[in-house]
Amino acid sequence: MENPGTVFTQISDFLDYLGSDFSSVISKLSKDGLDLSPKFPFLCSRHFANQIKNSSNPEALLREVLPLTVERKNIPGFVDDPVGDLPAGKSDCVIQKYDRRALIVSTATCGVRCRFCFRKNYPFQNIPDVASEVSNWLDTHSDVWEVILSGGDPLTLSPGAFRDLVESIAAHPSVTTLRIHTRLPVMRPDLVIQHFELLRELPTRFNCVLVSHVNHADELDEDSAALFAHLKICGWTLLNQSVLLKGINDSPDKLTTLCRKLFEQGVLPYYLHQLDHANGVAHFEVPDERARELIAEIRTKLPGYLVPKLVREIAGEKSKTPV
Ligand code: SF4
Repeated sequence: MENPGTVFTQISDFLDYLGSDFSSVISKLSKDGLDLSPKFPFLCSRHFANQIKNSSNPEALLREVLPLTVERKNIPGFVDDPVGDLPAGKSDCVIQKYDRRALIVSTATCGVRCRFCFRKNYPFQNIPDVASEVSNWLDTHSDVWEVILSGGDPLTLSPGAFRDLVESIAAHPSVTTLRIHTRLPVMRPDLVIQHFELLRELPTRFNCVLVSHVNHADELDEDSAALFAHLKICGWTLLNQSVLLKGINDSPDKLTTLCRKLFEQGVLPYYLHQLDHANGVAHFEVPDERARELIAEIRTKLPGYLVPKLVREIAGEKSKTPV
């Protein structure tokens, strides 16, 4: 891993790092305006910048991280809380939408700021002690059997804070499954490694599920392969969720390649999400009809176990909705 800890917070530094080879693709992408002071701030790791440099399709990966002024447009139907997180909030950091399962907003921090993020307008609170807040909530909810650590990205927590959080959950024997939602294996593999001691132990206590978020095959590399292989040996179930994104993965070839490469790294494609209608993401939308065509086409190219479920999250519904 080359200089894994570095992140770019300034777009100009990021573009300088990419270099002049990328000027034409950046000019093409930013023809409607690069947003140099976006409301949802820019953040990209050096690791992902290298993935862009190495990609045969850099335009797709750049679209995931490059802020454009089109994000400022107000589009009817696109809102700040598209998946109904706020009405489902049970405490400052616990969200419960589904039967006997709970999601923890463990941190506001991510390894990247995806321009299509469904929580880009989420009012993250500064929670001084997530571990004790979660523990207190679980004390009175002994019917909950699965806890999902989300965020932000839970693996951006310091090793100490992450251990405290997990141990506060492990103190509740009713919780038998621990799920982690993370984009770090493809954005900040160095931050995943710092949790390895604990990640190795966890399958002795929980059924452990890691759901990665990978949208394009070129996000996967030898670092993600090594992380996934290690987690698999330790007993983790590895799944992936992707978002269907215009200009990034909305072609049968890109989706097929992604699903096959995930499988080569030991990860099963789980969900293909239709875009959540958060303010500022409308330019990524792929119409439902096209999404169904894409799934029908990749079904003819892949075994059934590699075809993700095409779903949408509808605020207030008791499960994801098939599209
Ligand atoms: S990693 Fe997830 S939570 Fe973080 S910006 Fe990307 S989509 Fe949003």
